[in-house]
Amino acid sequence: MRDRRPLAGALRALCHVSQCCPDRGAPVKKISALLILSISARLRVPALPILALIGFTFAGVGLAACSSDDGTSANTSAQHQTLNVVATTVQITALTKQVAGDKIQLTGIIPPGADAHEFEPTSGDLQAIERADLILRHGIGLDDWIDDTLKAGDHAEIVTVTEGVALRTAEEDGKTVDDPHVWHDPANDKIMVDNVAAALDKLDSTNKSTYDANAFAYKAQLDDTREQVQAIINTIPPANRKLVTNHDALSYFANAFGLQVVGAVIPSVSTEAEPSAQDTAALLDVIRREQVKAIFAESSINPKLATTLANDAGVRIIDDLYGDSLGEPGSGADTVDGMLLANARKIADALK
Ligand SMILES: [Zn+2]
Repeated sequence: MRDRRPLAGALRALCHVSQCCPDRGAPVKKISALLILSISARLRVPALPILALIGFTFAGVGLAACSSDDGTSANTSAQHQTLNVVATTVQITALTKQVAGDKIQLTGIIPPGADAHEFEPTSGDLQAIERADLILRHGIGLDDWIDDTLKAGDHAEIVTVTEGVALRTAEEDGKTVDDPHVWHDPANDKIMVDNVAAALDKLDSTNKSTYDANAFAYKAQLDDTREQVQAIINTIPPANRKLVTNHDALSYFANAFGLQVVGAVIPSVSTEAEPSAQDTAALLDVIRREQVKAIFAESSINPKLATTLANDAGVRIIDDLYGDSLGEPGSGADTVDGMLLANARKIADALK
């Protein structure tokens, strides 16, 4: 696949520069020297005469394909290639699997169990991003590293999957910050599913009916999940529906299902912050005053501080809640709906 991409890119450049593709303007049936320069740049070799000859040959093929009267040849040739999609977060990767099934080549960058807030891409990740036709990103400060990555001159379509989600804000050190943990509310997941489907539909219209049907089915499943999670949370005595988490990751979940977040060990929507001694002492007071039953640490974050605090307060510690991550493949929490149900059960078990 990788070896074919420079050529595919060159052909795309031909269509682009000659403005011959149906969605790029009226046919222009002449070949300019610019086409050859475009090909040589794409292939990253000097524009030697022999290459020019090859370029003219492919230009002929390209124009023949592009300039058919109804434009169907260009559409058909593009859509026969499997779409190469990169998803930044583990949640977007999981949602995209639901929508796309086996119709795309999908690479998830942040793996299960990793801390998304402090993630840095590997060289392998950068290669996957370079090959991508479509990049599905989270935004809201959770995958800003993608911006630096893209400065290398990538031309993939980039879609922010959380577009349209109503963001919760938090006050931190006198500043108002957006909370990125939107996936803990199934209503937000449905918006993300729609955004993924729309992005795939746009770039791969051949499989549009599949993407749309899968998105519809998964949104129905998320509705079902919402009801199941609510039923589980409703088994907790109302006075006990209080959460203390490791960092402020569960507020969308709490707001969606009628829980109250009374504090976080790291009082921030990011794990990069560090609590002061005063923060920890104040939280200990809150836990005692509110008679909180447990502290919920997360699968992707070191629970040491939360464990110490739980011991000091004499409450339970649950150290494997899915805050920023999903479960490993096969765990049952490797999907967004499975993660929501797993968290609901752990919370209900600890707070009853
Ligand atoms: Zn987080």
